[in-house]
Amino acid sequence: MLPGLMQDKPLNIIDILRFASVAHASQEIVSKNVDEPITRHDYGSTWRRTAQAAHALARLGISAGDRVSSLSWNTHRHFELFFAVPGMGAVLHTANPRLPDEHLIFTINHAGSKALLLDRNMAEIVERIKPQLETVEHYIVLADEERTDDGWLGYEQMISAEPDSYDWPELDENAGAFLCYTSGTTGDPKGVLYSHRAVVLHGLAAGLSGALGFSAFDVVMPCQSLYHATAWGLPFAGTINGVKFVFPCDKFDGPSLQQLIRDEDVTFSGGVPTIWTIYLDHLEKSSEDTGSLQRVIIGGSAVPRDMAESFESKGVTVQQIWGMTETCPLGVVSTPTPALAALGKEEENEIIWTRQGRMMFGIEMKIVDEDGQELPHDGEQSGSLMVRGPWVLERYYRADSSAIDGDGWFDTGDISTIDKYGFMRITDRKKDVIKSGGEWISSIDLENIAAGCPGVKVAAVTGVYHPKWEERPIMLIESHDGSDVSGSDLRDWLEPRIAKWWMPDAIIMASVPLTATGKIDKKVIRDRYAQILVTGS
Ligand code: ADP
Repeated sequence: MLPGLMQDKPLNIIDILRFASVAHASQEIVSKNVDEPITRHDYGSTWRRTAQAAHALARLGISAGDRVSSLSWNTHRHFELFFAVPGMGAVLHTANPRLPDEHLIFTINHAGSKALLLDRNMAEIVERIKPQLETVEHYIVLADEERTDDGWLGYEQMISAEPDSYDWPELDENAGAFLCYTSGTTGDPKGVLYSHRAVVLHGLAAGLSGALGFSAFDVVMPCQSLYHATAWGLPFAGTINGVKFVFPCDKFDGPSLQQLIRDEDVTFSGGVPTIWTIYLDHLEKSSEDTGSLQRVIIGGSAVPRDMAESFESKGVTVQQIWGMTETCPLGVVSTPTPALAALGKEEENEIIWTRQGRMMFGIEMKIVDEDGQELPHDGEQSGSLMVRGPWVLERYYRADSSAIDGDGWFDTGDISTIDKYGFMRITDRKKDVIKSGGEWISSIDLENIAAGCPGVKVAAVTGVYHPKWEERPIMLIESHDGSDVSGSDLRDWLEPRIAKWWMPDAIIMASVPLTATGKIDKKVIRDRYAQILVTGS
């Protein structure tokens, strides 16, 4: 080998903010906060506050390799921790407050965190779980207050007297930076430890025009939680491109989002479909328009078609993304190509909206059958989706064995097709596929079609035991407030749109349970209705 003669500069997360603090120093970082007025910072002041936070954490005894947990919403202080903690060589575990207590306790103990930084309205949760936290020595409230009676520090007091520059160490780019846990719908949550290298490469790729396509003209309001797989890496992809950030804290209701869009000229947002159902509902009721909003990226679960159409009719472009905690999390984004544009707008939209996304550099994908044989990219045949690349996990945190096969492929647990344009389409999660009389029914396809029926807010489909067919689909329908849509309306809607044997055996009008990451909780539905096709209830 003839060695290359370029600089061996490791990829460190702190250098993303270092760059933005110089190149986009006055670009704003606006944040709603818990019980505090909106705050306005910029990349320059954020850089200085991040240094102060690192000094304060170091003073508490946090050092390289230590883990620190956050229990925080989408705020500027949480954003600062995204740089301060990994910047000093420690690891930020972004704990998910929506997990059941037992899982939350498990993740903080499993992470072995020395400090816990929490938003003011997380205090109740923390009081409850504190006796069971085995390693936490310091509790810091991300607010301008100190709770001296129980020894909790206030973040603002803690950082205010600290120097505003920090001698950031040059870290091995393979050092751990973020610890994110899957939501543990089956068994205990599993930890995925992102390295600096993975986060920086992912942030670079996510900002490309074939992905999120950011520039410094964008005003980005992340509506996916910062604690869930780093909110699709937006804090990094956005900062690399010098976007203005608008953080909504925990105010994801329609009027609050609309107010931020209007007041701050938001151009871009992203989140799971549930958020957008709420937002569109608000627009419908208030007869308001989407103002400055240009693009909405939706992922986490499949995008219902009527949601995409509704945004399109308001002049907002919808793109779908697919990813998972194990992929840092972005895997694919559905952005147009010349080949698609040549098909005409209608067909282009059809592909963009109904596929999870197209291949992007950095994530290799293949689909395989039950024997591990690779399947063709014909858009028809579906198989297990396998991925590999520099921001895909190798093994779970503290696991003894690798999570990938001998060639580096990670089995995502999703079933998908890939078409000739390189677009991937999820047909189901392996554990959610409905096997009826030896044939497969896609729960996602059925949900999407049902979601298009007027009056339907959320549709959830699962397979439950059937004495003759092994499994048959049942459907839960949650309707919009004030709608009187019924099971028989749903049957009439589905009949011309699906194969006869896909018709659910039961259509139940009920509220749909969601997981800690805002997805339909199929396990709860399956358990609740396990016997419905045997006993009728
Ligand atoms: P969880 O902790 O809920 O498992 P993840 O974010 O890791 O959280 O979940 C990843 C899974 O979410 C994927 O494997 C896939 O099944 C599902 N998913 C993500 N994006 C989409 C999408 N656009 N369409 C359908 N399913 C999706």
